[in-house]
Amino acid sequence: MSDIPKDHPRYISLMTRERIVEGVDIGITSQQGLVAQGRGECFDYLVGERTTTSAFLAEKVAVCMLLLAKRPVLSVNGNAAALVPEFLVELSELVGAPLEVNLFHRSDERVERIISYLKQKGASEVLGGKGDARLSLDHGRAIVDSDGIYKADVVLVPLEDGDRCQKLVDMGKTVIAIDLNPMSRTSRTASVTIVDNVVRALANMVGLATELKKLDPFELQNIVKEYDNGRILSESVREIRDGLDGMIIDM
Ligand code: ATP
Ligand code: MG
Repeated sequence: MSDIPKDHPRYISLMTRERIVEGVDIGITSQQGLVAQGRGECFDYLVGERTTTSAFLAEKVAVCMLLLAKRPVLSVNGNAAALVPEFLVELSELVGAPLEVNLFHRSDERVERIISYLKQKGASEVLGGKGDARLSLDHGRAIVDSDGIYKADVVLVPLEDGDRCQKLVDMGKTVIAIDLNPMSRTSRTASVTIVDNVVRALANMVGLATELKKLDPFELQNIVKEYDNGRILSESVREIRDGLDGMIIDM
């Protein structure tokens, strides 16, 4: 890893970038994943590299939905595996949802590499290796496990792509997306959109799950009931705009 001084003002962002580069080096992240990260960084700059109020609410509702689900699954791609493997393992245990490796640029080799990487980080079981079911899409992300994403009622997809997100919603699933771009097709089609960096989102969700696990289903339902994803997306766009207005005044 590059030597980034801890007092650098953008230390966390630069370390995150290093982790993605390392993911590519060890063969768990695709080269296209680097481009996706760059796009994410741009939007992260716009949201002020922090968890906004609307994003935190979406994270809370998402955790409630995962806790209430009958067959929740946490989908893992090459970027998520490189950035937040420990948090994914922790969240999976807290909400009782298996991890499933699902790749856009799929190769059996990379799937196996990610499965063993997640196991090294403490995961007991990781789905995605069977790939015995298909969504009606024509790229690698169509391949899923029949007893995982295919049958899931609630799916968390950190960094999803728009048409697969749509397909999962069309199948009647509740889709929770983490995407820093509130205008992407994924953000606009998901049931719950968390406009936050996957690194902050997963850390928050682990903390929230530890607390919300203590509530009964009725209390969890009450939190979910009022949620309006359209409003959350509008708020995140407004938060970006307010941030930009503030910058113009500062200059
Ligand atoms: P869509 O198909 O939904 O319109 P896209 O094609 O614009 O999406 P991709 O390049 O397929 O987007 O995927 C990258 C998406 O993931 C971008 O929207 C980007 O903002 C987001 N992203 C990248 N890195 C992160 C991250 N660390 N945390 C959260 N979101 C991220
Ligand atoms: Mg896309």
